[in-house]
Amino acid sequence: MFGEVKVMIPGPTPVVSSIREAIGREVQAFGDPRFVSDYKSLIDDLSDVFGCDGQAFPLAGSGTLGMEMTIANSTRPGDRILLVSHGYFGDRFIDICERKGRQVDVLASKWGEAVPLESIEEKLKEHAYALVAVTHVDTSTGVRCDIEAVGNIVSRYPDTLFLVDGVASTAGEYEHMREMRIDLLLTGSQKAFGVSPGMFIVWANKRALARRESLGKISEYYVDFDKWLPIMENPAKYFATPPVNLVWAMRESLNIIQKEGLRARADRHEHMARALQAAFESMGLTIVADAEHRAVTLSAILYPEGIDDQAFRGRLFEEGVVVAGTLGPIAGKGFRVGHMGNVDALDYVYVLSAIERALRAQNVMVEYGASTRLYLELLDN
Ligand SMILES: *Cc1c(COP(=O)(O)O)cnc(C)c1O
Repeated sequence: MFGEVKVMIPGPTPVVSSIREAIGREVQAFGDPRFVSDYKSLIDDLSDVFGCDGQAFPLAGSGTLGMEMTIANSTRPGDRILLVSHGYFGDRFIDICERKGRQVDVLASKWGEAVPLESIEEKLKEHAYALVAVTHVDTSTGVRCDIEAVGNIVSRYPDTLFLVDGVASTAGEYEHMREMRIDLLLTGSQKAFGVSPGMFIVWANKRALARRESLGKISEYYVDFDKWLPIMENPAKYFATPPVNLVWAMRESLNIIQKEGLRARADRHEHMARALQAAFESMGLTIVADAEHRAVTLSAILYPEGIDDQAFRGRLFEEGVVVAGTLGPIAGKGFRVGHMGNVDALDYVYVLSAIERALRAQNVMVEYGASTRLYLELLDN
């Protein structure tokens, strides 16, 4: 391998050169008026682009800290939360909520399937929930939840907030808080935003901010909305040091997103994902998510019989392609490919070719060029 290794996992995703340059800039003081103005424009544009009528909080930390921040600021110990889980990351919310003393009711799907909307509706009729939480795309299964439909259901319950984990979807799948009636949204920098890891964003609309106010003092410190609201209003003030270079990197990522347009960006992801998923299936690979609930940002894939996971992914690595392993009940039985962010369609011709070689190395005799040909043909449609 002489070229760069292609990082094709579901985050971190490839970082384009203009974003890398932002990360490599000489640091400025966080009170420098030039930085303050850059940070403020990021904060405000994040609300604009994603339809938030409240506050966006782009802060230092990974997506998991964003999960913690949303729960901490929207519910109090003892509150009842409905958790709709489509895999590993949905389950992570359960642990976070339970450690914080929330009462959690879980609706979990079988891996690869989605929780039926009717069962969400039934639960909401049964109990008064402070919050309903769903993962838009669960990164372990590649299952996409119809958050617009869930938002419609939850909106009929005025005392219930709707929280969406968008770590593997925001800026890839179409997501708009006002249109989809989302009250709280969170994501991380390293997935569909195509920025290095280290920043998360929480968006809270007016309803969510009102809920925070009603809670009084909460036990969390760093993630308390009250600590950050004055800073988001005027980033010249200090509470805790912002990740200066990541702010610039996210600013550049948002420039790219604004230029492309959120809807066009989602359409690009969809077009490429459907072609790619057909190409995977043409090689005898099985996609974990059922056809109606497939994400456009990543695919979790099961091997055909007789493939050794270590040897397969090791071979891909030698070819210069890194994919992720599978998690939970399907660990060792397949792999996961990210196809989100600032990636080019033709990058996946390379990925598909590497997969063809790795399969043939283990005597799964796919026809060379068949998957890439199908992929290219579908891209033209
Ligand atoms: C990656 C991911 C997370 C966790 O984010 P980290 O940045 O790894 O903390 C949470 N939810 C989903 C859906 C993810 O894909």
